[in-house]
Amino acid sequence: MEAPLQVTVLGATGSIGLSTLDVVARHPDRYRVFALTGHSRLEELRALCLIHRPRYAVVAEPEAAGLLQEQLAGAGVETRVLAGEGGLCEVAAHPDADVVMAAIVGAAGLRPTLSAVQAGKRVLLANKEALVMSGALFMQALRDSSATLLPIDSEHNAIFQCLPADYARGLASVGVRRILLTASGGPFRQTPTEQLHQVTPEQACAHPNWSMGRKISVDSASMMNKGLELIEACWLFDAHPDQVEVVIHPQSVIHSMVDYQDGSVLAQLGNPDMRTPIAHALAWPARIDSGVSPLDLLHIGQLQFQAPDDERFPCLRLARQAALAGGVAPALLNAANEVAVDAFLDRHIRFTEIATIIADVLGADPGGPAASLEDVLAADARARALARTWLSRHGR
Ligand code: NAD
Ligand code: MG
Repeated sequence: MEAPLQVTVLGATGSIGLSTLDVVARHPDRYRVFALTGHSRLEELRALCLIHRPRYAVVAEPEAAGLLQEQLAGAGVETRVLAGEGGLCEVAAHPDADVVMAAIVGAAGLRPTLSAVQAGKRVLLANKEALVMSGALFMQALRDSSATLLPIDSEHNAIFQCLPADYARGLASVGVRRILLTASGGPFRQTPTEQLHQVTPEQACAHPNWSMGRKISVDSASMMNKGLELIEACWLFDAHPDQVEVVIHPQSVIHSMVDYQDGSVLAQLGNPDMRTPIAHALAWPARIDSGVSPLDLLHIGQLQFQAPDDERFPCLRLARQAALAGGVAPALLNAANEVAVDAFLDRHIRFTEIATIIADVLGADPGGPAASLEDVLAADARARALARTWLSRHGR
């Protein structure tokens, strides 16, 4: 029997991180926890370290690292605790790590995820923002390394499962006409457009089908999540934005589809539980138990489909524009969105102003090529500064 694979979980205290640990713990013969990272929820990280006894843990600040290491040693757990981005990159690229779950939220995950790719790991990508920001560079790093990239986003994991093994030859060469990216429509799918300006962070975070972190919950409510996923799909599957069609499917049972030239449409179905794509990517090409209950189609009864409403969800249109513009435009879009979502969660702006800020930033910045990581990080910094200027100009 082979030795268990050593798994680093970046963003272990988050929604995806916890689901990953749930699946990993079901298969102690296959997987061991190598490293766990957390940013602010230190008590939760400590509890996870006591259960999983990782070789490494990573926190944001050196003082917190010292304290956590002491507490763990006191409990007989010999975890080495590192700090900061350097620590994240170290556990992502460590020679003894086999699998890296990239589940940090936002641009903060870019360097650690790239480190895992460059070090040739099996990289499980939940952190879509990293790929959206750095698309071409990220995919080039993947080609230059021996890494295997497996999508965790349920839609992209579904598309991956519906594509033939040799899809990297090009979608047209394998007979694909379109990718159908499904979207639940979020909590405001039926809210009258004129009421959207008064929705609260609590309402935005109450997703009808999925339980997720706060940032992606707001992105789902604004449909920026689908916009980021459109860009993500273009990079992962080498698709033109026009080859990706967004379809609203309120039940979230079909996780996406691939439409072939002969008229066949392949779909992947399942209960809306992220442990399914996580288990798929951990074990691929094998299949393992994920703890997700079997799909009961008779209970679900109906599957519905609608076209997305661009008026109601301008973020989706902005993301498509950024995908078509290319270069650093997706990095600008992503950074402006991160600042705007934070401001909305902190109650400084209205929900509808998220799109206003992003449009303002995209209109104000000239864009340009994303030839290096420096180009991408500079665009990210410019967009954040422009978004903050918008906030102060409007007294927020
Ligand atoms: P979350 O907010 O629940 O967890 C985020 C994790 O990132 C936490 O462990 C936190 O400590 C860590 N983190 C936050 N800021 C950090 C920083 N500056 N530096 C280092 N670590 C930091 O988020 P989530 O819902 O688990 O989402 C994680 C990623 O997975 C996101 O990119 C999201 O888009 C993607 N994703 C999530 C889901 C889902 O169902 N939750 C589905 C698809 C994709
Ligand atoms: Mg998704």
